[in-house]
This record gives sequence, C-alpha cells and structure tokens, in this order.
Amino acid sequence: MRPQEVQGLRSGCCPEPQPTTDGAATRHLIRSKHYKNVADGDGNHISAGEDREVPWVAITPVVHAIRVLERMVPDGELLLSARHHAFASQGGHHGALKGGSLNDRIERFVVWVNREATSLGLSRQTVPEDPHGAIGMSRFRRTLAWHIARRPGGLVALAIQYGHMRTVLDARTSSGYGSRSRNGIHSVLDVETALAAADTAARLSDRMASGEKISGPAARRAVAAAATTPRFEGRIVPAKFARKAAAFLARDGVVLYDNPDAHLICAFKHDNALCEPEPGATAPRQYACQPGCGNTVRTDTHARQLRTRADEIDQLAANSPGPLGKRLRANADRLRATADAHDTTAQPAKALT
Ligand code: SF4
Repeated sequence: MRPQEVQGLRSGCCPEPQPTTDGAATRHLIRSKHYKNVADGDGNHISAGEDREVPWVAITPVVHAIRVLERMVPDGELLLSARHHAFASQGGHHGALKGGSLNDRIERFVVWVNREATSLGLSRQTVPEDPHGAIGMSRFRRTLAWHIARRPGGLVALAIQYGHMRTVLDARTSSGYGSRSRNGIHSVLDVETALAAADTAARLSDRMASGEKISGPAARRAVAAAATTPRFEGRIVPAKFARKAAAFLARDGVVLYDNPDAHLICAFKHDNALCEPEPGATAPRQYACQPGCGNTVRTDTHARQLRTRADEIDQLAANSPGPLGKRLRANADRLRATADAHDTTAQPAKALT
C-alpha cells in the first residue's frame, strides 16, 4: 500500500472472513481506497480516491494491527485519525495523521521496542541501527519489493500474496495495473529484481571460480550471463537506475533468478518456461516452478542442498502416519534423484564457455 492508502483506511475495512459453504478457510481482506491516477470522465483528479477493485489480502500481523487501531477510533473513522491519535498540541487536525507525524511515531516505536527488549533481557529482539537512516513510510514499499524479488516461495506468507502480486505487476501490458505509469511500484520492483538477479549472477560466478560444476539445459546460457552481468557492490540506487533496471530485466534468456525453494537458478527465457508466465512477463513465476523446465541450472551447492532437504524430509516421514510418510519418502527420493542427475551430467564452467 502507498502511505496515502494506509492513511485512508477506516475502522471496519478488514471484517472477519465468512466461512465458505464448503467450510474452507478464507483469508482476511482489506477493502480500501486508492488515489493515484484516479480521475473523473474529464480527466480531473479525484482527491477523495475510489474503492480499490481488488482488495488486499491481509496477513495475521496486519489484522492484529488493524484490530488494535479499531479499539482506538470509533466505527467507520479513519484508523489513523488525527482527532483520536494526536496529542493536545496537535489538536484541531482533521483527517489522518500526516506522513511526518507517522514517521516520527515509527521512530518512537523503535525506541520503545528497544527499551522493552533490553529491560526484558531479549537483546536479540532489538531493532538494530539502520545505516541508511530513519525508517520512514516511504521505505516500506522498497522492503515489499525486496521480498517479491528475493523470496519466491518463502516464509512470512509471501509465497501466495507476493508471488501472485509479482505476476499481476509483471503483466504490464495486459493488466490494468500494468497499463498505468511505469513509475511507482513497477520501478521499485524492477530495481530490487535487477539487484537480486545481479547477486545471483555474482554468486554463480563465485561458485564457478571455486571449481563447482554446473548442470541443466540452460547451463551454457547461465555461464555466459554470469560473465557479463555487472556486480553491484553497494546498495546506492540513483533515481535513473530504475530505467536501466527495466532494460536489464527485458533481456530475455540472460537474467538469472535464484529459486532457493526449487534448489536451482532459473535462466529465464520466456518461451521455454513451464511455469506459464503471463505474455510479456520479464520474470518467471518461481512459486510455480516445474521440474524438467529448459531454464533450469544447478551447481554442486544445489545438489548438496537437495540431499540435505531429502534427509530432513526422511526424518519427517519417519514420524508421519502411513500414506503421508510414503508420500514424503517418495518426495525425498525424487530430490535425491535430481541431485544424482546433477552429479552425472554437471560440467566445469570451462567446458561450457
Ligand atoms: S518453471 Fe522454468 S522458467 Fe519457471 S521458474 Fe522454474 S525454471 Fe524458471
């Protein structure tokens, strides 16, 4: 959400989900307004915004935060209403707390967390100093983009929500979102994805330099890509980097995506992809990665990881009832077979250049 969208949330925006007729669990949804590019028939900006067509899916910590705020403001009121949150000196304000005030409160919250953590002897739960300065609202979107770019099927409920979001965002020409300006979340996402892809290329180069072998139908492409992808030693991102990042990602076949959940690197070439990316997408749907895809690349490290994971699954199988245990063991065997296939087909980087 843009900061403005957060400021526009009202009490009651996230009702308890109703069970479906078949009793299946449903997720909390946030109904909200959006403001950017909202115009009337004559093209005039509508400052009151309009209801978002697609609601946000809320993860549990977000639902908890909304419930806390709903205890502080009356029904239907803005969750961050200045009238109910501001102190006497800031009285008389209408609408939501302003950005500066919210940024200040985030900083004070960090101070409070650190004081509590220290007094309770929980030093590992303090919020560390940030070398890039204060945690303002505007930095949350880049944090979100970081997760979309680097956690294809990871924890923190990102697999579904962010994975699908990337697909929506990536269908730039076909979706309503995509047809809007290339600024905003697109450019933030491009920057993080390009940095993540460059990290993947750098890691592959390092592994090749240390003598690891490479396998997979896209091994040759990946070796060439790793040799030509620039390294980003720092994280200073100038404003015009967004355009370069988009151009970098548009080079079909030579951008490398790390896919830790599938234990592989994806040298994404749209026509080869078995995960069915949208037409025109510049990134794979990593959460829907399919075995046997022509974009797959593996290193010796991936083979080791596959065997470690297989051992973990076997342990789980040993403590699971009959049919489930059987399925888990079959899964572990499949991972070991993939590792064996790597060992028998992998070649040194030199042989692939
Ligand atoms: S299916 Fe292919 S293109 Fe899709 S994520 Fe997996 S390796 Fe990449």
